[in-house]
Amino acid sequence: MLKTLLFITLLPLSASAQERVSVGVYHGRPVSRLTLSPHASGQVTAERALLKGKVTLTAAGGLVRCKDRKALDGRRSVSLSAYGGGVWLSGPGLPRRLHKGDITISARGDRLKVAAMVPVEIYLQSVVSYEARDLSRPEAFKAQAVAARTYALSKVQSHSREGFNLCDTPHCQFYAGFADINPVAARAVMQTDGEIINYKGKPASAFYHSACGGFTDGISAVWPYEDKPYLRSVQDGPAARPYCSPATGFSWKKKIAFADLERALRRGGWLRNGEKISSVSVRGHGRSGRPLKLAVNAGGRAVEIPTSDFYHAVGRTLGWTAMPGNLFELYSGKDYIMLDGKGAGHGVGMCQWGAEGMAGKGFRYWEILEHYYPGTVIEKMEKKKK
Ligand SMILES: [Zn+2]
Ligand SMILES: [Zn+2]
Repeated sequence: MLKTLLFITLLPLSASAQERVSVGVYHGRPVSRLTLSPHASGQVTAERALLKGKVTLTAAGGLVRCKDRKALDGRRSVSLSAYGGGVWLSGPGLPRRLHKGDITISARGDRLKVAAMVPVEIYLQSVVSYEARDLSRPEAFKAQAVAARTYALSKVQSHSREGFNLCDTPHCQFYAGFADINPVAARAVMQTDGEIINYKGKPASAFYHSACGGFTDGISAVWPYEDKPYLRSVQDGPAARPYCSPATGFSWKKKIAFADLERALRRGGWLRNGEKISSVSVRGHGRSGRPLKLAVNAGGRAVEIPTSDFYHAVGRTLGWTAMPGNLFELYSGKDYIMLDGKGAGHGVGMCQWGAEGMAGKGFRYWEILEHYYPGTVIEKMEKKKK
């Protein structure tokens, strides 16, 4: 039906094509040089000629340059087909990635852009391998597979102006190619083939995060403009022992110096140049126990910052380990704040460690998903009609 077709209609494919998505590889990174190394058992062609050894591509003035192979030099784009073991992509400052299938490398000015056509199920196997890398229970992997499939569906048009469906960063979902696919993730994707989370007949916004700390957060606390009834705060198991309590780093304490906080809040536009913080306090708590706002006293005025903005500002400037989550108690010291927190991530939607905990208690993946996305149903997308 329509939902499956969404994946397909965006792509210039023949009717016999498999369900594939195009992924922008190395999205957001400047790719000035790209080396293609056929895998030992790879059958790789570039512009229809077999590639036997390594080839390095660069870009200049909107054209692909290649010293190793004349036929590839001076084109706007190079088409690769990689079969068998596939082809490794690498370059200065870029992680090595294994790809298979059709890959297009094009020049934009002095940079290269890479777009790879990937079967949807392989894409999901890679995403789930990464996202569930700390988990072990198959039912938790299956819950993650259904959430990732649903999330991908909601993102599939977000890069259409750039010429591909999904990027390979957490913006869409982290995708690392064909290497390092965990067999448990691969099975979870196959066993939940085509299943997505629907709310009133439409795919849900399947947000997920690492560990909620005991209560998930409603989406309106994080993104005030989006109200989704199924993204509301739920209690994650018994108060004394939440489902996600086995998470590594479930309870945490972090100290942030005022000087560092000033840097983060200046960059976020909350503080003016030269304003010094004298204290920080919490203004109100939401249903999930998360502070609603933080009042920052600086330069003789009090600036009220929604907790999720504060969390993102700190994460972006000081790194995501400086303040792992947004459920915490706060103590304001002489020139620092001390945060005493639980859980990690934004807290909205499925709690990944909670899914692991529920799986350990015998819950099946659909029960896990119904718990974190109340009011939704799991439905199978119909296969496309021939
Ligand atoms: Zn993206
Ligand atoms: Zn949790």
